[in-house]
Amino acid sequence: MKQLWAPWRMIYISEGAKETDCIFCSKSKQSDLREALVVAQTAHTLVMLNKYPYNNGHLLLAPKRHERNLSSLSAEEYCDLNEALRRSVDIVRQALNPGGINLGMNLGRCAGAGIEDHLHWHVVPRWEGDTNFMPVVAETRVMPQHLLDSYDRLKPHFESLSA
Ligand SMILES: [Zn+2]
Repeated sequence: MKQLWAPWRMIYISEGAKETDCIFCSKSKQSDLREALVVAQTAHTLVMLNKYPYNNGHLLLAPKRHERNLSSLSAEEYCDLNEALRRSVDIVRQALNPGGINLGMNLGRCAGAGIEDHLHWHVVPRWEGDTNFMPVVAETRVMPQHLLDSYDRLKPHFESLSA
């Protein structure tokens, strides 16, 4: 594997092991939203940039309440989460103009869930050629834009969702 400029990997190496608490529950309590990478909050949903993204603008949407089962969400929580999901897709389309978007939810460790106790949607913008020379599941990824740059670019677009 070629060496790539990948600052997020250094953060992952230095901080990854320390994060034992549920990241979604701890994020919602953090006062600095930019540092927490939280771009929007609705009544029951948290929208944030993934700290270890698969691509630029990779979002995570989680219910504010710690819950692992989709069917255990109340109707209100479920609707709020899914309304936030479709609005986030619209916002990502407008803000980043991707060629496509992957949506996914991994339920359970063997389905690929990194945090299996707090369910969450992945929203991954895709561009033509973004996997041209890197395999989809490669450990090292090409990330032309730094996370906080992504945050600052996306945040204003999410004002309407938080309001
Ligand atoms: Zn949690």
